[in-house]
Amino acid sequence: MTAPIALFDVKAQQALIRPELDRRIAAVLDSGRFINGPEVTELEEKLAAFAGCAHAVGVSSGTDALQIAMMAEGIGRGDAVFLPAFTYTATAEVPLVLGATPVFVDVDAETFNIDIADLERRIAAVKKDGRLKPRAVVGVDLFGLPADWPAIEAICAREAMFALDDAAQAFGAALNGRRLGRWGGAAALSFYPTKTLGAYGDGGALLTDDPHRAELFRMLRTHGEGRTRYEVERTGMNGRLDTLQATILCAKMGLFEGELAQRHRIGAAYDAALAGKVGVQVAQPGAESARGLYTIRLPDAATRARVQQALAAQQIGCGIYYPKPLHHQPAYAAQHAGAVAGGPAPLPVSEALCNQVLSLPMHPYMTEADAQRVAAAVTAAV
Ligand SMILES: *Cc1c(COP(=O)(O)O)cnc(C)c1O
Repeated sequence: MTAPIALFDVKAQQALIRPELDRRIAAVLDSGRFINGPEVTELEEKLAAFAGCAHAVGVSSGTDALQIAMMAEGIGRGDAVFLPAFTYTATAEVPLVLGATPVFVDVDAETFNIDIADLERRIAAVKKDGRLKPRAVVGVDLFGLPADWPAIEAICAREAMFALDDAAQAFGAALNGRRLGRWGGAAALSFYPTKTLGAYGDGGALLTDDPHRAELFRMLRTHGEGRTRYEVERTGMNGRLDTLQATILCAKMGLFEGELAQRHRIGAAYDAALAGKVGVQVAQPGAESARGLYTIRLPDAATRARVQQALAAQQIGCGIYYPKPLHHQPAYAAQHAGAVAGGPAPLPVSEALCNQVLSLPMHPYMTEADAQRVAAAVTAAV
């Protein structure tokens, strides 16, 4: 009997750093500095050094990172925020919470990331319609693969829009030799446990090279507090990162380069075994995915169901990210329908992918042989 292979493994790593974790957690418990402890600053320095960016600001989650970044830009009522229809719900939820309107953009069939030609069309449609002001593009680095940042940056510069990188799935990825965190005006990270750098609870961070933005992010995560404690300069939120999560992440940062290298090996093993047999997410030249998830594209929903059954029979985990495009979600459908007069253009690639994608086990504590076994089970079932 062969061993099960899980989609994620958020526990194996602990064995490698358990003494350090125990020591660090005990130090926080002894200090009593559960909020804004020195470990938060220590983590921020480590994150900035890793990404090669000037500033990192720890926050309470990836969702709150997106929200703080948009609040810092003053995004709200009357603003259009362009984002892919094929992503996690948080990307769309944040502009809505702030009173802005998400405008869904289709994705590219190869990279699964925002389609630049469709983005141009939808910006033009919003401008022609005249009711909303194009304010921001949120590029998502889906499954760890960087979006087309040179193109997004060029469009945002031309249109005086804010380019926000939703890098929640992609910490560790690089494009043209530059790590995420240095693309767009700011990058939002999530430390949800299954992300490439995961905490043991919720957490997130904002990365930026812009000192003014970094200062605003720090202010907004602490209720918009000004230079003195009880002076409120801006409407903010409670968006701080816990000291305990920060200290856990500091310990995990020591393993991160090695984990990333193992993710690359697993990804390469999958590519070698699967490319040409099933659809795979294809990186554009110059892009180095963080390999957050390994996602294949099958011909149709029936084939996908068959592959899911075959994997389950061999105790191999898998998951569907995502089963429904955001414009079909009940919470967003009405907004979507009303965003431009005459109704929005269709989003065929996003809709097709939701019926076809399947994510396979991907974590640094599996082996290349595991990936080969998963790939063999997939190819036998298609
Ligand atoms: C996980 C995720 C988020 C939200 O991060 P949380 O830390 O769970 O709030 C946002 N965007 C994308 C693309 C994600 O995958």
